Amino acid sequence: MNLELGEERTAVRQLAKDFVDREISPHVVEWDRAEDVDRGIVQKLGALGFLGLTIEEEYGGCGGDHLSYCLVTEELGRGDSSVRGIVSVSLGLVSKTIAAYGTEDQKLHWLPRLTAGEALGCFGLTEPGTGSDAGSLTTRAVRDGGDWVINGSKMFITNGTWADVVLLFARTDDAPGHKGVSAFLVPTDTPGLTRRTIHGKLGLRGQATAELVLEDVRVPESALLGPEGKGFSIAMSALAKGRMSVAAGCVGIAQAALDAAVGYAKEREQFGRSIAHYQLVQELLSDIAVDVDAARLLTWRVADLIDRGQDFATAASKAKLFASEAAVRAANNALQVFGGYGYIDEYPVGKLLRDARVMTLYEGTSQIQKLIIGRALTGVSAF
Ligand SMILES: Cc1cc2nc3c(=O)[nH]c(=O)nc-3n(C[C@H](O)[C@H](O)[C@H](O)COP(=O)(O)OP(=O)(O)OC[C@H]3O[C@@H](n4cnc5c(N)ncnc54)[C@H](O)[C@@H]3O)c2cc1C
Repeated sequence: MNLELGEERTAVRQLAKDFVDREISPHVVEWDRAEDVDRGIVQKLGALGFLGLTIEEEYGGCGGDHLSYCLVTEELGRGDSSVRGIVSVSLGLVSKTIAAYGTEDQKLHWLPRLTAGEALGCFGLTEPGTGSDAGSLTTRAVRDGGDWVINGSKMFITNGTWADVVLLFARTDDAPGHKGVSAFLVPTDTPGLTRRTIHGKLGLRGQATAELVLEDVRVPESALLGPEGKGFSIAMSALAKGRMSVAAGCVGIAQAALDAAVGYAKEREQFGRSIAHYQLVQELLSDIAVDVDAARLLTWRVADLIDRGQDFATAASKAKLFASEAAVRAANNALQVFGGYGYIDEYPVGKLLRDARVMTLYEGTSQIQKLIIGRALTGVSAF
């Protein structure tokens, strides 16, 4: 893999960097305290093409490779993980899945609006009773004439109250486990679908996380995405690529922690000189720096594998596992460098730690990533 980014990717990265510094960083504390990112950010992300990366131009996308997607995601993660999550879910989990499995009509109906930021998508897999064991989900879709009627509920859905469409996974027959699951594209204004915002999150406070309840939600046959009964494998292939974008967001968190900690260490004086002089402080900084580099290289490898059409799922689990744990370590080390000031939300590192903490939980917990890696090593599945 050539680690030279080249002119085009460097320009994309700079565009994202400037956007973050201008449109996100000045508002981060306010959005975090208000538990509400400015909704206008979605159109701005769309206008720059950040919601259309890797999607073909004929569907409103702006093409680009997965390394460019990682660079943008990393920058957004450096700025605010709540904003990064909007892109990772709407583009990474929803638009890319429509592009991969949708009919021509589904692509033409949804992708131009999703990539422009005129519409937003959410991904409805987790339920109150099924998280890691997603294949046991109980939301049910039953045929009724030419329609499907869906009943059930979904938990912790990112973009949930903002989204215009939910990529919803529901059981369509009684085959055991994941075998009877199908995927649907359900407009969120369909009668019978209600949404409740989940408040009180430790981090990602600006993000619209919701519980969705579906009571006799009726959608036409054309809402089915991909073949009936193949929903679970569609969800797993979406999440495998999704793990790369979570990992890239974690690199952004760790980089933000490093930038903040180095800056503070050079400014803060104790015992008559800056704390940067003290080797125990330098140890904290160097631990963060190594985590940043290692997480970034693991993440870029996934992008390279995808762009070359190689198997990438295990590499994505390794990157997500390492980068998410590294982001927590990096933010925690940075907080230590800040001393007591790190504990106050006027300084950035406390939020980085709170935001990082969920990264080891969603899109497959660290334990689930280890089981995926273990399965690849041994050929024996723990699931
Ligand atoms: C802020 C936020 C946003 C989210 N966004 C979305 C979204 O947009 N869409 C969506 O569908 N979901 C979303 N999720 C849900 C997320 O993916 C789940 O929380 C996650 O998969 C874990 O499921 P759970 O919370 O039910 O934990 P559980 O599955 O109950 O796990 C609890 C603990 O048991 C461990 N465990 C479980 N099974 C095993 C096993 N076999 N071996 C070893 N350990 C095991 C886990 O690692 C964990 O430590 C979000 C969650 C959060 C918190």
